[in-house]
Amino acid sequence: MSTSVITPSTGQNRWNHLHKVLSKPGPFSDEDWVPGQDTINALESSKIFGAGGLGCEILKNLALSGFKDIHVIDMDTIDISNLNRQFLFRQADIGKPKAEVAAAFVERRVKGVKITPYVGKIQDKDEDYYMQFKIIICGLDSIEARRWINSTLVGMVDLEDPESLKPLIDGGTEGSWLSARGQARVILPTLSSCIECQLDMHAPRPAVPLCTIATIPRQPQHCIEWAHQIAWQEKRKDDTFDSDDMEHISWIYNTALERSHQFHIHGVTFQMTQGVVKNIIPAIASTNAVIAASTTSEVLKIATSCNPYLENYMMYAGEEGVYTYTFEAEKKADCPVCGNLARNMNVDANMTLGDFIDSLGEKAEAQLKKPSMRTEEKTLYQRFPPQLEEHTRPNLQLKLRELVEDGQEIAVSDPAYTIDFRFRLHFK
Ligand SMILES: [Zn+2]
Repeated sequence: MSTSVITPSTGQNRWNHLHKVLSKPGPFSDEDWVPGQDTINALESSKIFGAGGLGCEILKNLALSGFKDIHVIDMDTIDISNLNRQFLFRQADIGKPKAEVAAAFVERRVKGVKITPYVGKIQDKDEDYYMQFKIIICGLDSIEARRWINSTLVGMVDLEDPESLKPLIDGGTEGSWLSARGQARVILPTLSSCIECQLDMHAPRPAVPLCTIATIPRQPQHCIEWAHQIAWQEKRKDDTFDSDDMEHISWIYNTALERSHQFHIHGVTFQMTQGVVKNIIPAIASTNAVIAASTTSEVLKIATSCNPYLENYMMYAGEEGVYTYTFEAEKKADCPVCGNLARNMNVDANMTLGDFIDSLGEKAEAQLKKPSMRTEEKTLYQRFPPQLEEHTRPNLQLKLRELVEDGQEIAVSDPAYTIDFRFRLHFK
């Protein structure tokens, strides 16, 4: 038997190529980097934490990159709609927790790797838990979860203790109709630009207004939404819509098709109909693969110092061809997480406090859904406890100029986050 045969079942030869890479300096490797066994040990002993919707790709990549101690959190169970792109899951796994099934699958395939799953939310764990890891890699699908892990990791940094700084590698793909965009970011909490610094680069995509859907559809998806949200209510009020019922989907499809003909819009298909009503994001398996590969290779570089890591933001656009662009996002002094100044916000002084509060959900620089707020002197609006809510509720009707002064600072809290957000309000 030839010794060059790779035998994945025993595992050892699987890493030969990787060990070669890790045993010689590259053109950009640090001067103080000693290639060889130490680097390999650093890789194998690095405890890595991973979470999120890019989980299958990231977990597979980490295991195949030689990491041996991986912890993974995911709260979801496997749905039939996951099977086309989340390749660690099979028909028989439907209904089981993703974290456990993925961990067992990768452990079976890559011998010697230990994967510890936890079924739940990243927010269930505290600083002590995150402190055990060397690197955190996330492919989370919600901005709320990203902001939470970001502020937690920034809050953990103790300048006296270098071990308390946990690099955060964040990968994201945009989930919306027909989009194939994504980004990979390397964040060194407190040292480099953080997720909160970059918040306004990820403005919430406005939902298609109901009036567009109702009156002037422009895209095939608008016709499907019309059939789903409006026509169903009018024509089949007594049937509860079930997105798994083929007759229901067919009805939506035919109704949407008819409407698309009226407005000379092309492209309504059965598959798109299913995708829109079930909110399934179509055909971005390849985007996930690109972003997961990029983020995992950053983890490898940081764990072993074999090459310089990304500084600090790579964006990917794959709708027409393949395009990537890398730049260094700036750390912001008015970042509510890693900066120390209040963030400036222009507001209309005649807006009511209630409207202002509603607007914070949409404003790119805030994106807070359930804010409470106060000035240094008084509480403007407080959601909890109920007595305080009742007491501050009349303020919602007042205009901003009756409550705060031009240039005044307010502190905003939101149940999704552990920190306060400071904004300085400037009247337009
Ligand atoms: Zn920041």
